[in-house]
Amino acid sequence: FVNGIEDFFNYCKENEVEFVDFRFTDMKGVWHHLTYTMEAVSAEQLDSGMPFDGSSVDAWQPINKSDMLLKPDVDTAFLDPFTADVTIIVICDVYDIYKGEMYEKCPRSIAKKALTHLSESGIGDVAYFGPENEFFIFDDVRIKDEINESHYRVDSEEGCWSDDSDYEVGNIGHRPRTKGGYFPVQPTDSMVDLRAEMMHVLRQVGLEVTLGHHEVAQAQGEIGIVFGDLIEAADNVQKYKYVVKMVAHLNGKSATFMPKPLFGDNGNGMHVHQSIWKDGKNLFYKEGEYANLSEMARHYVGGIFKHARAVAAFTNATTNSYKRLIPGFEAPSILTYSSQNRSASCRIPYGAGEKATRIEMRFPDSTACPYLAFAAMLCAGLDGIKNKYEPIGPMDDDLFELSLDEIRQRKIPQMPHTLRGSLEALIRDNEFLQPVFSQEMIDTYQHYKFETQVWPDEARPTAFEF
Ligand code: GLN
Ligand code: MG
Ligand code: MG
Ligand code: MG
Repeated sequence: FVNGIEDFFNYCKENEVEFVDFRFTDMKGVWHHLTYTMEAVSAEQLDSGMPFDGSSVDAWQPINKSDMLLKPDVDTAFLDPFTADVTIIVICDVYDIYKGEMYEKCPRSIAKKALTHLSESGIGDVAYFGPENEFFIFDDVRIKDEINESHYRVDSEEGCWSDDSDYEVGNIGHRPRTKGGYFPVQPTDSMVDLRAEMMHVLRQVGLEVTLGHHEVAQAQGEIGIVFGDLIEAADNVQKYKYVVKMVAHLNGKSATFMPKPLFGDNGNGMHVHQSIWKDGKNLFYKEGEYANLSEMARHYVGGIFKHARAVAAFTNATTNSYKRLIPGFEAPSILTYSSQNRSASCRIPYGAGEKATRIEMRFPDSTACPYLAFAAMLCAGLDGIKNKYEPIGPMDDDLFELSLDEIRQRKIPQMPHTLRGSLEALIRDNEFLQPVFSQEMIDTYQHYKFETQVWPDEARPTAFEF
């Protein structure tokens, strides 16, 4: 809506803005904010930056070097649809005043560096990203019952979790069964109005919305947003999560993007569609090749697969992420590509045509910080193009049917099974990230995830172990 600082002030005046809410993203992908009164915001300060305490953000600055600046990107400004007083939100980058440059641990600045890396490589001038963020809506009594039931039901004879659908309990009339959410009409789909409200507000904050639908799991939903360039797409993920969570909240519900909240039902993915363009041409398209996919696109996939274990540290950033990556729930575990196949890590949407041909990476989830995840995939993909890495595939069969023996015999690479596995891979394999991520950033990230995710999780007995 806004183009430049002058336009920003005009827009604020027109809309009688009272507060300016400056937002930035931490390494977890969480939005933080500082709210200024409109009168306190000057053009000079927008240019020089807004001061904040960098030591109060996890794993950022030490207390004795805490002064940092937020550099507002005024072109991202949009009116907050949820505040009582007129408030405009502005997305910011973080500036390191000690080094006199963009902060090396600021995800949005890292994402910008990834774009510089793309143009310097000479390979392309734009990278398009189209994330699909799935979510659950909870605080619904029937779902709570379902969660409790699935947590405590253990098949006493087998001594293991019941894995068929007989843990559906209570009155299931007009309610989606396990994996039965996609996509009966109302009254089975009871989230129609909630999704419509979300879609309405998403449009209000400037996202181009294409569709909304119930997803496969119970109480699961998804709203389709048009792709954008890397930064725009990552900014949109932040806006999308904010709107989905707020609309649910205002309706007495709670939205979660947690990858695998329910045992035995589908989880939440963040599939990421990607293509690279140069001079207005889609470099991923080549008519006549398998799925009309160019050699360059194949190598891009090859690069992501080659480094997938390390990339997963960014794209699948919590211990819970790996509970989603198991066979049988439309989430991948095997690193191969295929046209149409939703059991492969990379799907090539069928018959997409010259402009829309792209790859869809299916392993990421929304616990990723979108800026870091997109930047890491771009780095891996560019490394694949440079080194002409060939991905394994195409494999068009149902890969969920493959036995573990077969996977091993055919030497098909798999995604890591734990966050620990991904982080250890990141420690060994990070050269491909070096043009964009500093060593300090990689070290900090890895330590932070061990401390806040891996060790606390490894220390806790789970219900299943009992
Ligand atoms: N929920 C599935 C996942 O975890 C995807 C389902 C779909 O969009 N087809 O990735
Ligand atoms: Mg979708
Ligand atoms: Mg989906
Ligand atoms: Mg998809």
